[in-house]
Amino acid sequence: MLGGLDLHLDGPTVVAVLHPQCLQGFPTDRAKRTEVGVVHVVEQPQGGAGDDIADPLLWAERTPLPPPARARADHHLGLTGHSGGMEACLEAAIDDGRFDVFCIRYDFVSYPDQGRILRRAAEKGIGTMVFKVNAGNRQIDIEKLTSSSQFYNQAAVKWALTNPDVASVCLRITNFDQLREYAAAVGTNLDDDEVAMLRHYAEEMYDKYCRFCGTCEASCPHEVAVADVMRFAMYFKYYGREKDAMQRYQSLPGDFTAATCDACVGSCDAACPFGRAVRAELVEAHQMLSFSRA
Ligand code: SF4
Ligand code: SF4
Repeated sequence: MLGGLDLHLDGPTVVAVLHPQCLQGFPTDRAKRTEVGVVHVVEQPQGGAGDDIADPLLWAERTPLPPPARARADHHLGLTGHSGGMEACLEAAIDDGRFDVFCIRYDFVSYPDQGRILRRAAEKGIGTMVFKVNAGNRQIDIEKLTSSSQFYNQAAVKWALTNPDVASVCLRITNFDQLREYAAAVGTNLDDDEVAMLRHYAEEMYDKYCRFCGTCEASCPHEVAVADVMRFAMYFKYYGREKDAMQRYQSLPGDFTAATCDACVGSCDAACPFGRAVRAELVEAHQMLSFSRA
């Protein structure tokens, strides 16, 4: 629960209940609605190219409402996602015309074209909430940034909020220090030092941060779910969510885990468009996440 927003991001179908104040930031006439609304959120298909957005089967299987969702004034249709193919899915959702809300991953490392897409969404009256703005939260891996964690997170939130097409940022807040830290970021602009910090982070992380695009998975002879494993490793190592990460890894079907990577030549390395050391990270991830499997 965050600011009246009860939003579940996992699972094929997620439903969020928005309180009226959450809708006030949306740059559309629909934001003026005062009723408590229901947002039916469709999760972006893993690795989708956008074709599925217009697929009637998607609506039948994933949403409790028949299209168009706008048939009822207090019902809204949203799209969420953070995996590969997201830009194509967003473009298709904008063209589709049935969506009111996007709740998507947005950071300054992953998707260079995302700003233009969010502009286009805003012009069509779609409000956007974003999450994972800190691009992996890996500042502890960067020598110059290890003592600037607080400022880094503030800068990442500022970066997202200074985009006028972003209505709000979804954050995981577990204590009052974090609450104060993020609250201080609201309503202020990035200064030159913060811009330099984010630029330095983006350069350092270019070939380290997994975009969860799944491109490398096609080259794997063992069907390892690379994007999922990388994401769980990120939760464990950089988000402080060790137990949650291990449980998620445990729930992967056995064949999709990274158990086979240690003995593999690692054809995924050459398949990653960002030049990441995929195999090495998967071997580490399996050791980190699979105590109970050992
Ligand atoms: S190291 Fe081998 S088994 Fe593991 S993901 Fe890469 S190609 Fe697949
Ligand atoms: S390792 Fe590379 S190709 Fe594979 S999911 Fe991550 S960013 Fe994409």
